[in-house]
Amino acid sequence: LAKKKGKNNYQLFTNKLKEQNKRKSMLEKDLRKAIKGEELHLNYQPQFDLETKKIVGLEALLRWNHPTYGPISPGEFIPLAEETNLILPLGKWVLEQACQQNKKWQDEGYEPFRIAVNVSVKQLQQFDFVSSVSQILQKTGLNPKYLELEITESILQDLACLKHSIKKLRALGVSIAIDDFGTGYSSLSVLYQLPINSLKIDQSFVRNLNSTNRTSAIIKTIIDMGRNLDFYVVAEGIEYEDQASFLCKNHCHIGQGYYFSHPLSSHEVQKMLVKRH
Ligand code: C2E
Ligand code: MG
Ligand code: MG
Ligand code: MG
Repeated sequence: LAKKKGKNNYQLFTNKLKEQNKRKSMLEKDLRKAIKGEELHLNYQPQFDLETKKIVGLEALLRWNHPTYGPISPGEFIPLAEETNLILPLGKWVLEQACQQNKKWQDEGYEPFRIAVNVSVKQLQQFDFVSSVSQILQKTGLNPKYLELEITESILQDLACLKHSIKKLRALGVSIAIDDFGTGYSSLSVLYQLPINSLKIDQSFVRNLNSTNRTSAIIKTIIDMGRNLDFYVVAEGIEYEDQASFLCKNHCHIGQGYYFSHPLSSHEVQKMLVKRH
C-alpha cells in the first residue's frame, strides 16, 4: 500500500511540475509579445517623508495584464524574464517609460520628485548599461537627480563588477537604493563598499513589527546605522498606523506602503500631485 501511495504522490508531483513548466513556457512566449503590444504598463507607489507626510518620490512597478489570464504578478514574470534575458528589453522599456512620465509631470508644472526604478542584476551586468541609462536620460530630458535605481541586496554578490557600474551611475548624477535590505548575504559589506544613497528596509521586518519584539530592535539598528552612514532610510510594506508611527518616532526618513497608498496608475498619481506656484 505504501508503495502504491508513493507512486501516486510521485505522479501528482510530476504532473504538477509538468503543469508548471507548461505555464512557464507559455508565459515566456506571451511575454515576448507583450513587450511589443499594449499589455504592459507602470504603476507608481508614492513614497512619503515620514515627518512632513509629503510625497518625496514614486516607485515605478511593472504591471502585465495578460489578454486571457488577466493580471500576472511581477513576482511570477520578473524571474521568468530574468531567466530568459527578456528582462533586458523589458528593463529598458520600464526605465524609459518612468523617465518620460516623470519629465512630463515636471513639464506640466508639478513639484518635482524622484522616480525609483527597479533594476535587475542582469541589466547591471551588461557592459553598456550605464550608457543606456545615460541615453534614456538624454532622450527624455529628465535631470538625473530625479532618477533612483533600486538594486536588490540579495543579488549584490558580484560586488567588484557592480561597484564599477554603480560608481559610473553616481557620476552621471543618478541615485542608488539598496532594495530589500537585511535579507541578503552581503548586508554589511555593501554599506562601505558601494556608493549608495538609500537603504530600503525589507518588508518582512516591517510586517513582523511590534514594539516589544526583536524585529523592532533590528529595525532601529538599521535606521541608526543608515543615518550614521548618511543614507536615506526607507521602510516599505507599511500597512498600519502603528508601524508608521514607530518608524517616524525612530527617525526613519521615508515610508512606503498600503497604509499611505497602494501603487497607482499615472492618472491617479496626478490627482495627488501639487502644482508649483
Ligand atoms: P519591490 O521592488 O520590493 O517592490 C515592492 C513590492 O511591495 C511591490 O510589489 C508593491 O506593490 C508591494 N507593496 C507595496 N506596499 C505594500 C504593503 O503595504 N504591503 C504589501 N504586502 N506589499 C506592498 P509588486 O509590484 O508585486 O512587485 C514585486 C517585485 O517585483 C518588486 O519588489 C520588484 O523586485 C519586482 N519588480 C516590479 N517591477 C519591476 C521592474 O520594473 N523591474 C524589475 N527588475 N523588477 C520589478
Ligand atoms: Mg523596489
Ligand atoms: Mg526589488
Ligand atoms: Mg523591496
